Amino acid sequence: MRTIHHLIGGAATTGAGGRRADVFDPNTGRVQAHVVLADPADVDAAIADAARAQVGWAATNPQRRARVMFAFKALVEAEIDTLAEMLSAEHGKVIADSRGDIQRGLEVIEFACGIPHLLKGEFTSDAGPGIDVYSMRQPLGVVAGITPFNFPAMIPMWMFGVAIACGNAFILKPSERDPSLPVRLGELMLEAGLPAGVLQVVHGDKVAVDAILDSPLIRAVSFVGSSDIAHYVYSRGTANGKRIQAMGGAKNHGIVLPDADMDQTVADLVGAAFGSAGERCMALPVVVPVGKATANELRERLLPEIAKLRLGVSTDPDAHYGPVVSAAHRDRIESYIGMGVADGAELVVDGRGFSLQGHEGGFFVGPTLFDYVTPTMQSYQEEIFGPVLQMVRAESLAEAITLPSQHQYGNGVAIFTRNGPAAREFAATVDVGMVGINVPIPVPVAYHSFGGWKRSAFGDTGIHGTEGVKFYTKLKTVTQRWPGLDAGAAVTDSSFVIPTMK
Ligand code: NAD
Repeated sequence: MRTIHHLIGGAATTGAGGRRADVFDPNTGRVQAHVVLADPADVDAAIADAARAQVGWAATNPQRRARVMFAFKALVEAEIDTLAEMLSAEHGKVIADSRGDIQRGLEVIEFACGIPHLLKGEFTSDAGPGIDVYSMRQPLGVVAGITPFNFPAMIPMWMFGVAIACGNAFILKPSERDPSLPVRLGELMLEAGLPAGVLQVVHGDKVAVDAILDSPLIRAVSFVGSSDIAHYVYSRGTANGKRIQAMGGAKNHGIVLPDADMDQTVADLVGAAFGSAGERCMALPVVVPVGKATANELRERLLPEIAKLRLGVSTDPDAHYGPVVSAAHRDRIESYIGMGVADGAELVVDGRGFSLQGHEGGFFVGPTLFDYVTPTMQSYQEEIFGPVLQMVRAESLAEAITLPSQHQYGNGVAIFTRNGPAAREFAATVDVGMVGINVPIPVPVAYHSFGGWKRSAFGDTGIHGTEGVKFYTKLKTVTQRWPGLDAGAAVTDSSFVIPTMK
């Protein structure tokens, strides 16, 4: 059976750790490969090699670093079909969606191609007599990224694209559930001209994560995953003096006002709730129609669209979505559906027990719709991360704004309306980090920054965009005076008070 290796020091290696994890084919439920799991010694070896490589990389001028990013983008584009197949085979999302996963990551690589411009500091000439002040952004050294299973291409590229362009070396600890694609991205970075060691791919579980968080050589860690682990990473990492950004789970709401374009809203909701089997942190698993008539119309229109959804294996070009990532995750989603029933919500469409003919062992969950969900229900309060849409009926816009604002998660939210002032008020007041106005999945473009609020993100800096550059660099400010410019001036006496511009 195939073994998926680490990429340490530019070479494939099984490392010293003897532990392995199963990698499943979600379409069939069968184990298709084993991935090596790092011991602390493997992580330390990767970090030491990265620290060695980082010195030369930081001294490489930004334009040359950008050229590696340009070359990497071309290499990824040249084999995007193969990469998408590799991604789908372990994740289960349909091929077109895997291409989107890769493309969204490449958009951050495109942003990183502009790094010479992004790293330009500020300069003030003659801030005082013969005195100039300038600032520069310097790389941190060795930084790390710990990524989830649901975007095995996009999220690693969000992180290493910007970090490496800034002059850091990067330790990538991808999800152990779909580890092949991140290794291939690492190989393509080498082919693009990145010196060996600047990007290390180390597989593992909590053991590897703890070794990263405890290493004194790691200056900063980006994490994306579930909220409890995000909080753990944030707490342990910051206690060890590291800069941490840790993105967590989500429960995004779509508010539908009576004046919304209903045809478009229904199409958007179905795609955002069920696309990728709901395994997106920017999915829309909660819909909040305002007013009884809106709720009834929405329910009536959603039903035939849900009935038309086609589940299939990830290679089926006609499938709307494929299996979820694991049997354990399928069981968890189904237990949440059971919880919704026990909570007293109305189960309108039940996706439990779905079986795809010829793929009975696959991890499929049918589309599920709940109506009359209320904020006190546990199945509403927690993230399900599956193809389950919950309808919470609201009487007014004010009540609809309160729901996402008071939810423990604050990743994304969307409003569907033609009412400009209402949308404007909504965007200004809702307590959520990323807002869509008639946009169901408001993931910011690469040159803006991604980041939720509340339990969806720990730490203050967004991912990619200028926030990403800020996160992976430290600011140095220089105040300079050159003897000779003020030739003939008398030597000034020692001053024992703070210099001012008075
Ligand atoms: P996860 O939290 O299980 O795993 C994320 C990473 O943490 C993986 O690399 C994993 O190996 C590691 N990990 C797992 N258990 C650990 C432990 N006990 N100690 C230390 N590290 C551990 O998340 P997942 O299931 O891979 O991904 C789905 C979750 O990610 C969902 O909650 C989703 O909302 C969230 N997510 C959030 C964003 C965002 O930007 N906010 C984006 C994508 C996914």
